[in-house]
Amino acid sequence: MAYVISDSCVSCGTCSDQCPVGAISAGDTQYNIDADSCISCGTCAGVCPTGAISEE
Ligand code: SF4
Ligand code: SF4
Repeated sequence: MAYVISDSCVSCGTCSDQCPVGAISAGDTQYNIDADSCISCGTCAGVCPTGAISEE
């Protein structure tokens, strides 16, 4: 099960810097997680300042 980013994302980029597999990239309005690359380590959810990331 991959992690997902909600519309609470403020595009700070912190999660993208911390992801060990580079699954997170910037989108037009918020950051997005590539479900096929995500290994569900949970690191991103722990560093997001707005709590925008959760398990799908
Ligand atoms: S759960 Fe881990 S692998 Fe998946 S996007 Fe977050 S940091 Fe990357
Ligand atoms: S850490 Fe949270 S607020 Fe920052 S880019 Fe990632 S999902 Fe968005």
